[in-house]
Amino acid sequence: MNKIMVTQSSMPSVDEYIEEIKDIWDSKWLTNNGFKHQQLEKELCKFLDVNNTTLFCNGHLALLTVLKSLNLSGEVITTPFTFASTTHAIVQAGLKPIFCDINPKDYTIDVNKIENLITPKTCAIVPVHVYGAPCDVDKIDAIAKKYNLKVIYDAAHAFGVEVNGKTIGNYGNASMFSFHATKVFNTIEGGAVVYNDSNLTDRMNSFKNFGLTSPETVEEVGINAKMNEFAAAMGLCNLKHIEEEIAKRKRVFERYIQNLKDIPGIKFQNIDSSVKQNYAYFPIVIDKEKFGKNRDEVTSLLADNNIFARKYFYPLVNDFDCYKNDYNSNDTPVAKNIAENVLTLPLYADLSLEDVDHICNIILGR
Ligand SMILES: *Cc1c(COP(=O)(O)O)cnc(C)c1O
Repeated sequence: MNKIMVTQSSMPSVDEYIEEIKDIWDSKWLTNNGFKHQQLEKELCKFLDVNNTTLFCNGHLALLTVLKSLNLSGEVITTPFTFASTTHAIVQAGLKPIFCDINPKDYTIDVNKIENLITPKTCAIVPVHVYGAPCDVDKIDAIAKKYNLKVIYDAAHAFGVEVNGKTIGNYGNASMFSFHATKVFNTIEGGAVVYNDSNLTDRMNSFKNFGLTSPETVEEVGINAKMNEFAAAMGLCNLKHIEEEIAKRKRVFERYIQNLKDIPGIKFQNIDSSVKQNYAYFPIVIDKEKFGKNRDEVTSLLADNNIFARKYFYPLVNDFDCYKNDYNSNDTPVAKNIAENVLTLPLYADLSLEDVDHICNIILGR
């Protein structure tokens, strides 16, 4: 049996990619807003149904840039049940993360606990559409309006998701997508910020290019976070196949549900049926009392069989060495409990249904 990893990158055929990159040899334009970059921004605006898309060399620097560009200062309410990037970007933008607990249903930020954390210093909310599950965007919008806060979504997992009949990028002031190799849509490494307010465009384009506003003017201490032409070309190829990729993921996802539903002690993320999902991840939460084995035992059992599930997201961000002196994960008990019992099973477009059955049989000791 070959190794089964938690994910496998989606790629176009090599011929398709070669065809796409030929133009780059003609133009000799490798980066700094080249033709592929311009075309990908346009096509993403269309696919994501948003007014503006700005591309970056990765999702993390996209998030950092939008936080920097919104002139924020003070405290930002966010979730500890996420990848390191979300919190690091907030800190690197000079802001103070305040962790809000998650809800036990879909593991997104608990909207009923946000208001208690708001202080005169609060400037923004950075919720995460974790595993592609949309946050309660309407409630977050209402809170933001009431307290005059900005909302920046970490939508790294949510490419292609729609809620209330609108694409996920249409909520809040801005949303960040990651196009990392392991995400539903990839540009090898890459990311984007999508948003409505066109005033953000120049500011972000300047920040991601060292703060240059013209060849002889540098207005702020910027960074280098531009997407190159080879990455943009990969995106153009992958975008052509995205619907088919998501459909293939759906088959895998549904096979897991079929095999693991009604198993005492195995719980799924509960996403409202009105949501158009992207099937980015398949997390299960294991209750040892009812299932017999705990999360770590299931992880080892799978690893013994060459199957590598991941404990996404464990440890919680507020338990990281770099944050644990300033925070207490007992303040976010639901997140702590989920982090200790969650396991993300292998899921990618080309995972066969036989492999899914095999993985489930091992979990169930069959
Ligand atoms: C992947 C990811 C990011 C960062 O994206 P990169 O493109 O890898 O920099 C941010 N937030 C979350 C939740 C992620 O999973």
